[in-house]
Amino acid sequence: MVPQWLLVVMHHSGCFDAWRMPIATGISYFSDDVGGALLYWPEGPDGPPARHAIRSDTALVLDTDSVFHGVDRVDGAEAGPSGSGRSTRSSAGGNAPRGWNRSHAQMDATVVPTKYWHALEDGRIQCDVCPRACKLREGQRGVCFVRARADDQIVLTTYGRSSGFCVDPIEKKPLNHFLPGTSVLSFGTAGCNLACRFCQNWDISKSKEIDTLADAAGPEDLARAARELGASSVAFTYNDPIVFLEYANDVADACHEVGIRTVAVTAGYVCDEPRRDFFAHVDAANVDLKGFTEDFYRHVAGGALAPVLETLEYLVHDTDVWVETTTLLIPGHNDSDDELHRMSEWVVDHLGIDFPMHFSGFHPDYRMLDVAPTPKETLTRARRIAMEHGLRFVYTGNVHDAEGDATVCPSCGTTVVQRDWYELRAYRLSGDGHCRTCGAAIPGVFDGPPGEWGARRRPVRLAGRTEGGGG
Ligand code: SF4
Repeated sequence: MVPQWLLVVMHHSGCFDAWRMPIATGISYFSDDVGGALLYWPEGPDGPPARHAIRSDTALVLDTDSVFHGVDRVDGAEAGPSGSGRSTRSSAGGNAPRGWNRSHAQMDATVVPTKYWHALEDGRIQCDVCPRACKLREGQRGVCFVRARADDQIVLTTYGRSSGFCVDPIEKKPLNHFLPGTSVLSFGTAGCNLACRFCQNWDISKSKEIDTLADAAGPEDLARAARELGASSVAFTYNDPIVFLEYANDVADACHEVGIRTVAVTAGYVCDEPRRDFFAHVDAANVDLKGFTEDFYRHVAGGALAPVLETLEYLVHDTDVWVETTTLLIPGHNDSDDELHRMSEWVVDHLGIDFPMHFSGFHPDYRMLDVAPTPKETLTRARRIAMEHGLRFVYTGNVHDAEGDATVCPSCGTTVVQRDWYELRAYRLSGDGHCRTCGAAIPGVFDGPPGEWGARRRPVRLAGRTEGGGG
């Protein structure tokens, strides 16, 4: 029997609210940037996409026909064994979390055991991947929606699955000091451990273009495809790779076997041990530094600032990973002079004056449709403030800005790389990253002449791809 309605019960500050929601054709559930479930019917009863974000740590979603149809609540209590190492993969169904049903078939084709968790005395199992520390009963999923408790362990439910593959310019990640001009095979899966109200990616990961590319690829297939497509690296992006680190790590190993490097685009919201494990597999990272107050992280991004700063310090001081940051400036939320001064000061003091930063423009999206787009002046102001603090490589994004797109040699003032958005327009560096005018070294990862990929974005499908096959 097909359920017609959902009963959604939400807990708010000690009170319960309940709604009965109609299930229209195509309703789906996604773990998303909301940190929970997204009730979504593409054609919406009232026009274009109707979406209701439901935090899964405060909501219980049941269909009123008593057929389990979606999201379970997160908190619970059941005993389980202490953490175990990763073993073999199994298809969904065997140890698939409760609530797995045919409507999730695209998201849960493969389920793998994980090792970052421990049993609590009250019987629940706590996931130790990120500071959210989800405590799960049997069958429940974490806030990220893709890690869940099944057979008394925490499993990853999206191993080998992707929301799409695309060949991008590396400058789009953005990384301006890592193999300039080269192409990167980008992919993501599903789920996120933050809940950014301003998420700028949900339309990419949910767009029809990506939807039609719902794809699958094992690590070796992916590495081989990257090589065949001429990509210098593979990027874990679109959603935070922390939540699918077992898959990302295996992909990274396969890539390194064939000389392909790996890039992570991440919020850096991760606990110590998985942080060390994951970034040991990564050559470069762009870390979202979403703001510089705990209040912003808590109320707008659904996370915390301190673990992100720990990740940045760890990456810069304890690893060989090349790192840059991106801050999306949202008018009235994280763009005050005071916040930008404090952020810049911290970066200089903790990461050094050669650390590259990107300030990027917000456009109204997702659950922040009532905020105006970022004026270009805000981006140039942020760049000026950061450079006043001594930072030497500060970029603006999502705008045409010749100065904010340029890398200038700090030694002689030559514009060594001029970009126009993602495209290189002038390049005056040697193969190993030295200024051709004065010979000063520019920090970064350089490997011969720049790539010639340009600004192209090329979606590719990997499922069924054979060696030597086209994209
Ligand atoms: S990765 Fe984070 S959000 Fe996901 S289950 Fe683990 S603790 Fe929860």
